[in-house]
Amino acid sequence: MSFFQIHDPVFASYVMGNAPVKRIATGFDWVEGPVWCGDQNCLLFSDIPNNRILRWTEEGLTTFRHPSNYSNGHTRDRQGRLISCEHGTRRVTRTEWDGSITVLADSFQGKSLNSPNDVIVASDGAIWFSDPHYGIMTDYEGFKAVQELPCSVYRIATDGSIAAMITDMACPNGLAFSPDESRLYVADTGRMFSDDPQHIRVFDMKDGRPVNGRLFHKIDTGCADGIRCDADGNLWSSAGDGVHCIAPDGRLLGKILVPETVSNICFGGRAKHRLFITATTSIYSIILNRRGVQWP
Ligand code: MG
Repeated sequence: MSFFQIHDPVFASYVMGNAPVKRIATGFDWVEGPVWCGDQNCLLFSDIPNNRILRWTEEGLTTFRHPSNYSNGHTRDRQGRLISCEHGTRRVTRTEWDGSITVLADSFQGKSLNSPNDVIVASDGAIWFSDPHYGIMTDYEGFKAVQELPCSVYRIATDGSIAAMITDMACPNGLAFSPDESRLYVADTGRMFSDDPQHIRVFDMKDGRPVNGRLFHKIDTGCADGIRCDADGNLWSSAGDGVHCIAPDGRLLGKILVPETVSNICFGGRAKHRLFITATTSIYSIILNRRGVQWP
């Protein structure tokens, strides 16, 4: 069985012929938000409906946090602290070294955020997060709520101030900077350009702001949700049939086929060339011939 679809010959050099897609953990309800912690050689991820964050190592699986306020996306800041998007509390938090939780954002201009979904950190320490409305449309524990703000992408500066940076997307979701941060990619799981939810937009970064937003790529199967760049600038995207690798010019180079719907991905492992994949009820991983960017 092949784990790959080659759409451009270069993709054959990105994967290793018989390196399998391995299922390394299963039994969850909807997994999301993978983040690699190299200092602990572990992967953290959310199991959203079960209100928990799990910690995977080669030795096994433990509960990292329960309840997790229905956390979704995670990343780590420049000091290695965990940054989390929480649906239940509609906020973005930072876990401090002593374990206490600092709220970084829960409102904008006096109105509650919707349900922060995914988050990345720029090299200047600013935190960028998406705020679609999925969490308040889902009645997990009475969290269903009236939407107060448009679905947007926000930036939290290192001084704590919050600014809306992208306000014209239907449901911004996964985020990724290109390795040199000259571009910002945003997956839209809503409907914008056409009656089609399956696109990724790219923005040029100019004076710290995303400008010139345009269609970058349309996923051909399912939706793009979580996205990550490799060190060469290729964009790896979650999709309905697996993980798609897209060149900086927007061409599909190839696919890693995964037997469950993929929600998100991250690079990890000692050499950052192991791709971890959250997919519906399971976590998968595969060793690639490409490395993630230095920071998650
Ligand atoms: Mg997401």
